[in-house]
Amino acid sequence: MDHKPANYKPVHRPTVDELLLRNKNYAATAHRPWPDMWQLLEWTAPSTIVIACADPRCDPQQFMEGRKGEIATIRNLGGQAEISIHDVATLDSEFQFKELVVVHHTDCGVTYLTKDGVYAYLRENLPDATTAALEAFPIRIFSSMEEGVRHDLEVVRNSPYLRKELKDSVRGFVFDIKTGLLNPVV
Ligand SMILES: [Zn+2]
Repeated sequence: MDHKPANYKPVHRPTVDELLLRNKNYAATAHRPWPDMWQLLEWTAPSTIVIACADPRCDPQQFMEGRKGEIATIRNLGGQAEISIHDVATLDSEFQFKELVVVHHTDCGVTYLTKDGVYAYLRENLPDATTAALEAFPIRIFSSMEEGVRHDLEVVRNSPYLRKELKDSVRGFVFDIKTGLLNPVV
C-alpha cells in the first residue's frame, strides 16, 4: 500500500515468541477459567449471527456491545458471505439462529487492493502454482462498501445452505469507523 503519509513510522510488530511471552503473562495475571460449553449455553445462546470484516476496527462484539456468548461472529477479509456461509450453516445446526447480519465498514483495507495486484503477487511468489489454480483463486474486491454489502445480501438469499427463515432475516450494514454507527444498506 502506498497511501501512507510521508512521516509514517511502522509500529512494533511482535513475533510469535514475543506473543507467547505475553500469553504467559495473560494466563498468570488476567485469565479466568471459562465455563464449559454446556454451562455457557445454560446462561446464554446466540440468536444472531454476524458476518463481518476481520479488520480490528470492525469488531461486532465491541460495536454491538456483545457480552460473551451473546453474538455469534464469523469474520474474514471484507466480511464476504461466500467465504462465511458454510460456517454459518454449520453453527446454525446447533443454534438455529433467528437473524443474520452482514457488516462491512468504511475505509476497509480491501478497497486499497486491486485484483491485478493480488494476482501479480501470487504469480510472482508462487512459481509452482498452475494457471488453473491461480485462476480458481477467489478474489472479490469492491470500491463501494454499499455495493459489497448488497452483493453479500444476494449471496445469502441465494445460498442453498441456509434455511429460508434465516435467509429472509438477513440485514446488511456499513459500520462507520468514525461515528461508530451501523448504517443500513437496502
Ligand atoms: Zn475491512
